[in-house]
Amino acid sequence: MANNNLVENDPQQLCRMQIRQLKDYAIFFIGLDGRILTWNEGVEHLLGYTEEEWIGSDTSLIFIPADKAVALRTSEMELASQKGAVSDIRWHRRKDGSELFANGVMSAVYDTSGALIGFTKVISDETSRKRLEDSLLESNSALEHFAYAASHDLQEPLRTIGTYADLIAKRHGSELSENGLQWLGFIVKAVARMKGLIDNLLTYARMGTEKEPAVSLSLDQDVETAIAQLAAALEESHAAVTHDPLPPVVAAHSQIARLFQNLFSNSIKYRSPDRSPTIHVSARAEGGYWVISIVDNGIGFEQQHGESIFAPFKRLHGQEYSGSGVGLAICRRIVENHGGRIWAESTIGSGSTFHFTLPRDLPES
Ligand code: ADP
Repeated sequence: MANNNLVENDPQQLCRMQIRQLKDYAIFFIGLDGRILTWNEGVEHLLGYTEEEWIGSDTSLIFIPADKAVALRTSEMELASQKGAVSDIRWHRRKDGSELFANGVMSAVYDTSGALIGFTKVISDETSRKRLEDSLLESNSALEHFAYAASHDLQEPLRTIGTYADLIAKRHGSELSENGLQWLGFIVKAVARMKGLIDNLLTYARMGTEKEPAVSLSLDQDVETAIAQLAAALEESHAAVTHDPLPPVVAAHSQIARLFQNLFSNSIKYRSPDRSPTIHVSARAEGGYWVISIVDNGIGFEQQHGESIFAPFKRLHGQEYSGSGVGLAICRRIVENHGGRIWAESTIGSGSTFHFTLPRDLPES
């Protein structure tokens, strides 16, 4: 009881006790010579060291690779003393030799006269998240590879079907009945549609692997490129594309132009029968990102599909509109490749707004 009272009356001791018992964070104090002076349960939980094994050891024992461990811990301490605190996320070595992917923050500690007396270090375990991320990346790239190989190989038999259907039409067309000719027409159409699907799938699969250097260029230019590519469709549909002055971003600009092109061509395709299509592009800064918005006055869609339309092959509007359902999946790929995200808002009958973010090219502070 006496002990409890003591703790209740002494917040500092209560805090110390809580830190000591924390299991999810390894928290310890390091002297100026790099030797460890304190221990908490998190150290044993995350790194495997008992209090006896830990105290007095050189903190380089958790750094990898082992041959650079002392140099790494020295430069971390130097940086923390210059900047006040440093954080990093990397692999550490546990006592049993296994590896821990962890977030670490080292802060310099000063005495009342302002002299540096050591460092506190807090480490939290990110291993499961990292493993999940790595396995997702692996399965994504396996999927890309599969999609690429599959769509590439599908082209060959399709070409054969198309060639022979053409030959039958040309050489034996006159021998065929009306039904026969109509069915042949269906085959030719299906081949063209399948070719479109495969081309889109190939583009989608290539998007993750083709690397184009990122350069700083105004988004105005990407919008203009997309407008030029769509000149015929814009004229035919009497569409008007307008844009505010747009900022420069560091990006793979042929991909960004394709992103605008996909979004504009959807706005033209899914236009309202009652009015000429209008498309407006604007940009606003939000934190470290630009939010780019593309507003159209088309037929719109139910907001509940705002997320699913970005999945490959997802289509909301039927066969009366041409398309493969891969355009927005490509858009998402492009935006995510650039570290941004994309989403849509829409109201049936009034139009849709597609928003995407791109990191701002902020000057170093
Ligand atoms: P596609 O246009 O080839 O079908 P997308 O991936 O570009 O494929 O788009 C997926 C679906 O999202 C479309 O089939 C359509 O139903 C819907 N959609 C996309 N853009 C718009 C838009 N601007 N207005 C209304 N619906 C749209």
